[in-house]
Amino acid sequence: MKKDITVTSPLLPPLEEFIPYLEQIWTSRILTNGGAMHQQLEQALCDYLGLEHIALFANGTLALVTALQSLRITGEVITTPYSFVATAHSLLWNGIKPVFVDIDPATLNLDPLKIEAAITPSTTAIMPVHCYGNPCDIAAIERIAEIYNLRVIYDAAHAFGVRDEGGSILRHGDLSVLSFHATKVFNTFEGGAIICPDAKTYRRIGHLKNFGFVNETTVIAPGINGKMNEVSAAFGLLQLQHIDQALARRREIDRLYRALLDGLSGVRCVESLAYEHTNHAYFPILVEPEFPLARDELYQRLRENNILARRYFYPLISDFPMYRALPSAEPANLPVARSVAGKVICLPIYPDLADKDVEAICNLIIESGTR
Ligand SMILES: *Cc1c(COP(=O)(O)O)cnc(C)c1O
Repeated sequence: MKKDITVTSPLLPPLEEFIPYLEQIWTSRILTNGGAMHQQLEQALCDYLGLEHIALFANGTLALVTALQSLRITGEVITTPYSFVATAHSLLWNGIKPVFVDIDPATLNLDPLKIEAAITPSTTAIMPVHCYGNPCDIAAIERIAEIYNLRVIYDAAHAFGVRDEGGSILRHGDLSVLSFHATKVFNTFEGGAIICPDAKTYRRIGHLKNFGFVNETTVIAPGINGKMNEVSAAFGLLQLQHIDQALARRREIDRLYRALLDGLSGVRCVESLAYEHTNHAYFPILVEPEFPLARDELYQRLRENNILARRYFYPLISDFPMYRALPSAEPANLPVARSVAGKVICLPIYPDLADKDVEAICNLIIESGTR
C-alpha cells in the first residue's frame, strides 16, 4: 500500500519543542480564559503581522459569527458562493440573509463589478473572501462600501501572512477574520481570530467571545463561548517560530508545480496577482474542456494513486439545501462560480511535501493529458 498524499497536512513542529510550553501551562494551572499563552500569542501575532489588535477565538467560524454580531449587522449581506460553507453559515447564525454575487474569472474572488446590482435597501454589509489567500479587489470593494454606507467584513481564513504594498491585507475593512484550523497555513489545532481596528472594538469583541460578560456580574449581550484555550495558544507561539520556513517551502512547491505543468494543454494553474506577497495556502488548477479527462475523472485517477486532492470549492455554497431557494442562488446569477466549481482541483501543498511527490503528481496529470 502506497502512503496517502493528502491535500494538506498540518505544520507540526517537533514534539519535544512543545513540552516546555506544556510545562508552563501545568505550572500556572490556568487552562483558558485569557491566560499567559493567550496574551503572548495575541501580542506575537500583532508583531508578526504588523497589526494593532487581534482577538483570538476557539475557531474561525465562531470568529465570523462574532464579527457580524459585534457590528450589529442585520438584513442582507453580499457574499461569494465560491468559498467554504462557514462563510455563509455565519450569516444564517446571525439571522442575516446571504445575497450571492458572482466571482471574477481571474481572481476567483467576489466580482466588484457585480456588487452594485445586488444592493437593496436591506443591504448592510459585504462579506468577501480572499480565496486561496489571493487578495480581493480591496480598493473597488471599499469604494462601493463607502458610497452605499456598507460595512465590510473579510473572511480572511486563507490569508494568513498575505501582504500588499502597505502591509498585511488583514488591516482592511471594518474587520477581518482568520482561521487557525489544522488544515490552514498557520494552525492552533482549532482556532481563529478577529483583527480589530481599535482598542474599543477589541474590548467589545472580548466581551462577546466570553458570553457577554464585562465584569463578574454584568452581561451586556448574548455572547458566545469563543475563547481560545491555553494549549492552542501555546501551539500557536511554537508555530510562529517555524512559519517563515513553512511559507518559504510552500513557495518552492508552488514554483515547482507551475514549472512542471507549464504548457500542458487543458490545465490552467490559477494565477495570483500578488504573487510575491501571497502565502500559497492552496494550489488550485482548472481542468478545461480540452483536457482528455473530465475534472472528476482526473480527480478519481489521482485518488486511485493515493493522491487525495480536493475539489475546493465544489459544490458552491449556493447549492446547499439551506441556500438554494434564495433568488441570488439561481444558477443564471452565478455563471462564473458555477463554471469554476466544475473545473477546479486543489493539488496537495504543505511544507513537508517532497519534491519527488510533486513530480509524481505532475507526471500523473501529464500522462492523463497526453494519451
Ligand atoms: C476554514 C475556513 C473557515 C472556517 O474556519 P474554522 O476555523 O474551520 O471554523 C471559514 N471560511 C473559510 C473560507 C475557510 O476556509
